[in-house]
Order: sequence, then C-alpha cells, then structure tokens
Amino acid sequence: MKKVVIVSTGGTIAMVKNENGVVPYEKGNLLISEIPLLKNIGVNVELMEFSNIPSPHMTPIDMWNLSKRIDGILLDRNVIGIVVTHGTDTLEETSYLLDLTLKSDKPVVCTAAMRNIGELGTDGPRNVYSSVLTVLSPQAHEMGVMVCLNDEIHAAREVTKTYTSNVATFDSPGYGPLGIVDEDNVIFFRKSLTREKILVDKIEEKIALIKTFTGDDGNLLRYAKEIGYQGIVLEGFGRGNVPPNVADAVEELVNDGIPVVVTSRCFKGRVYPVYGYKGGGAYLRKKGAIMSEHPIGQKAKIKLMVVMGKTKNIEEIRKYFEPNISRRKIFYEG
Ligand code: ASP
Repeated sequence: MKKVVIVSTGGTIAMVKNENGVVPYEKGNLLISEIPLLKNIGVNVELMEFSNIPSPHMTPIDMWNLSKRIDGILLDRNVIGIVVTHGTDTLEETSYLLDLTLKSDKPVVCTAAMRNIGELGTDGPRNVYSSVLTVLSPQAHEMGVMVCLNDEIHAAREVTKTYTSNVATFDSPGYGPLGIVDEDNVIFFRKSLTREKILVDKIEEKIALIKTFTGDDGNLLRYAKEIGYQGIVLEGFGRGNVPPNVADAVEELVNDGIPVVVTSRCFKGRVYPVYGYKGGGAYLRKKGAIMSEHPIGQKAKIKLMVVMGKTKNIEEIRKYFEPNISRRKIFYEG
C-alpha cells in the first residue's frame, strides 16, 4: 500500500510541560502519528523518528543529514511524500535547506505546533493532518518544500515565523500563502516562481549571521573571520545599508576572500545597491559585497551554506544571490 512517512525531529509538537517548563517528551513523536483521522485517508501513515530535539538545537549538519535521509526515504516507490515535524523556531531554516537541496520532487511538507501536547487547544494534530492532506494533493509535487500550519500552506523559501506565541505565526511577507486547507480540501492559489534547487555534495557549516546596529564599529564581523567563519551574512538596514565603520570591515573581509552577503532587517522587498555613500548598498557592492535580493537574513544564511558547498569564489557565489541586479534592462523582447 502507498504511504506517507512522517519524519519527526522534535519541537513543541512533541513536548509536554513539567516543573521546569515545556520540554521534549520521549513518546512525543509517537503520538504525532496516532491521530485517529489519519486512519481513514486511504494510505498508510508511517512514523520515522529522526531526532527529538528543540529546534534551536538543530545544527546545519542535522539539517543536511535530514535532507539526505529524506531523499533516501523518497526512493521507495510506495512513498508518496513526507511530512516533517519540527520546532517552529527554526522551521523556516530547515525547510528552506530541504527546498534547496532535496533531489526528489515528491511532496515534502513541514509542520509544527505552537501549543504543546498537554495544552488546551493544542494545534499539533490538526497541523499534521492538514500536512498529510497537502502531501496527497495532486498539485503538491509542483510546489517545492512547503510549510503547513494553521490551515495555511507556505513556500519554504518565503515563509517566516512572525509571532512569538500565536498559532497564526507563519507568514510569507510580501508573498502570501501558496494555498489553504479547508474542510479537508487542499486549495492552491499560486506557485512560487522564485524557487530554485542547488544540488550539492556537501554544505559549508561555518557561516555567521550578524545583525548590524547604529554605532556598530565592524569588529564583530572581523572577529567572526578570526574565529574561523568562512562566510558572513550581514543583516543591514533598509535597502542593504550599514554604518561607515562596518563598510571598512566588509571591505577587509572581501579582500581576504570571505564572502559577505548583505540582507536587510526589513523582511519585505528587495535588497538593492541604491546608496553610494559610505556604507550604502551601492558602496558596499563596489567593495565586493554581495546583495541578497531576498532580504531575510536567516534564509540567506541557509543559501550561503549550500552555495559554499559548491564554490568559495565570491563572483560565482554572487550569481546565486543577485539574479536580477546585474541583468541588462530589457523592457520588451518580442
Ligand atoms: N522552542 C520550540 C522549538 O522550536 C518552539 C516550537 O516548537 O514551536 O522547538
């Protein structure tokens, strides 16, 4: 019989509250697969435990191993697709790494819970059920890796956690959801046209994500290099601008062969080299910084980890982050 595999990694969806607070529950992952509604959907649902950790404990290597494990499971002809259960805190990172690196095109839907197993109105079972339905949708294989919570389906590349506590926490700012799950119907509205695959044999783990601030002297960036980081994602302001002393640090790092990818603390719109003053995006790019057109820092970090598994050459890396910036302006090609 055909099956959907739930690959569980931990998170609040597999946690309960004790005297210390909310913590992983050893049978938590098992409970995920025992939702009565999953018995009547015409396919088997099988559980495979990958880990049972809070998602802030997830490392780049865990994510990469998860990607390889999922590709292995998807080789089985009876497996229709996979639901990954995960903590919400870093779900946007893991799901994006899967989206970039999975070889298989079978549907993979990541889900989680904001309320733990024992909590009133726990959202885990509902989210798992909706995610299994999403995997079974005939349109799901065209959508890339998805994130499904609170009856909404989002593209892994676009989604981010926006609320510390509310069940309606996942959103795709500037894009909106791909679709919804409503009364057992999976309804897609759109496809993400910016999806890409970067197939690699390894990833570069040592990528730092550093947020700039007013008065920043750039020394945190320099220090990141000193302690062995191979690439840096720099979260700047607005269009991708930083204080002048940070611009000096960026220039030094680039001259030492360390790629610096500039993102923005704004999570909508595009990072773009507009400003030519010292520290402005155009200035930084002239000094060799890479503009990440997609502004969210944690997404750029995942992408840089993957791209640097392929190349360490700054100009090669640039091509992955700036697909439009250096393109010649063509208004109409008849
Ligand atoms: N701290 C938890 C985690 O990410 C939160 C969650 O699962 O929602 O593992």
